Amino acid sequence: MSARPAPLEILQHVFGYRDFRGMQTDIVQHVTEGGDALVLMPTGGGKSLCYQIPALARPGCAVVVSPLIALMQDQVDALRQLGVSAAFLNSTLSAEESREVAQAFVNGDLQLLYAAPERLVTPSFMALLQQAQIALFAIDEAHCVSQWGHDFRPEYLGLSVLAEQFPGVPRIALTATADHATREEIVTRLALQDARQFITSFDRPNITYTIVEKKNARDQLLTLLRREHEGEAGIVYCLSRKKVEETAAWLREREIKALPYHAGLDASTRAKHQQLFLREEGVVMVATIAFGMGIDKPDVRFVAHLDLPKSIENYYQETGRAGRDGQPATAWMAYGLNDVVLLAEMIEQGNSGDTQKQVERRKLDAMLGLCEATGCRRQALLSYFGEQTAPCGNCDNCLNPPQLTDVSESARKALSCVFRTGNRFGVGHLVDVLRGKLNDKVKSWNHDKTSTFGIGQDVDEATWRAIYRQLLARGALQVSGDGFGGLTLGDAARPILRGEAPLYLRARTEKFKVRERDTSE
Ligand code: ADP
Ligand code: ZN
Repeated sequence: MSARPAPLEILQHVFGYRDFRGMQTDIVQHVTEGGDALVLMPTGGGKSLCYQIPALARPGCAVVVSPLIALMQDQVDALRQLGVSAAFLNSTLSAEESREVAQAFVNGDLQLLYAAPERLVTPSFMALLQQAQIALFAIDEAHCVSQWGHDFRPEYLGLSVLAEQFPGVPRIALTATADHATREEIVTRLALQDARQFITSFDRPNITYTIVEKKNARDQLLTLLRREHEGEAGIVYCLSRKKVEETAAWLREREIKALPYHAGLDASTRAKHQQLFLREEGVVMVATIAFGMGIDKPDVRFVAHLDLPKSIENYYQETGRAGRDGQPATAWMAYGLNDVVLLAEMIEQGNSGDTQKQVERRKLDAMLGLCEATGCRRQALLSYFGEQTAPCGNCDNCLNPPQLTDVSESARKALSCVFRTGNRFGVGHLVDVLRGKLNDKVKSWNHDKTSTFGIGQDVDEATWRAIYRQLLARGALQVSGDGFGGLTLGDAARPILRGEAPLYLRARTEKFKVRERDTSE
């Protein structure tokens, strides 16, 4: 075997960087030596090099599966500028162009080939793969294989054939967003049981998280821009195209360099706005979630949400576009009850099956838990991804602790009810038991005979739900993962049950029957 350049040499001489970042060293070495890997790294963490460098360090061509056509094109352009021989195969190529790429691949003229998943699993492409020498398979955005994830793409399911047909070729799956259940599904579906897992911290310490109650969201946003981000680049996310247009126009009237971006604009306008955002200083992109995937702009100083994202994964991914240069940045969101109702209705009226709807509801609930968190936002956010940290001192709740009402006693009742009913029921049923509702489900499970039946009549249903959301957000409860929103006690339940850790709700946002009673005593 001829001597091939070492990973560090490739990093320095091809990519022009001095050192690997964090886990990149270990990942690159492991994959270069032929090992399988599952890489969880936040957006901006530097996932691409984790497969690009082994691609150059190993003989043959690396095949990279990516669902995002625009991203593929950008990556291939960037690699070519560095003198790497890279190409892509997707629906934007003509038949002739595709043939040329295929030929170069089989001839061994390529170092990296990007392909869309639906392309990869076609019989003709599988035949090509058999003819070429393959350095590795990289599966980008691996959470797309998970029905439990937020971005399921059925084409990804076909990728399981890679393990069967190419047992000797290392595979590296990468994603920026995967909670525990999603991670397990990636492992199963992509046959990565023996892969080494590299899980990087998701913390973005330079981002200040702030979630405010929506009053007049636009005015609140304008205040933020004028006070803290004058002349700086940022992204404002809205749910609908109409709201994107209106908000961009409204901001422009107030002398903010705002541009709209959504899938309803024609391609040339979108491209123009994107270029302006990347090249000019201080452009504020008002956008739907169609904007942002693969945008590599390091100095985005703020990401603002005028509407609630549908999951913590989405929130994390969208806010993660702020401050990639490591300088201080803001993640700001205004949320109101209407958002919650709107998103909940979208779930109910959507085309998803029942199981999928349960997943979506659970994700929305977790998102709400974060909005209502009275403790450190970063702690709540990271605990969702399975990471424990101390309060950060750099979020709204740490910087300005909110006014609180003690609901510890109700929280204990809420937890006992989960335990007494067998760690398997959803919030709706638990609240029925607590409030002593004698319906068919309660009767059929004999839950009217449990000690927690009817012990929570003094607290209204909305408050019980808020308490359950808090408990979920704190890790005192976990969704059992059966796909039906059932709750089980989590590690943080014990101190609350023992009375060692209090639970608070924001005093302003909820009506408290509990509190009324407490003060009358
Ligand atoms: P991800 O895919 O995880 O979102 P990227 O691979 O796009 O992240 O990397 C994010 C940015 O960090 C890119 O601009 C990339 O060039 C840069 N980067 C990655 N690794 C290094 C490194 N070791 N040294 C310097 N810059 C790096
Ligand atoms: Zn904090």
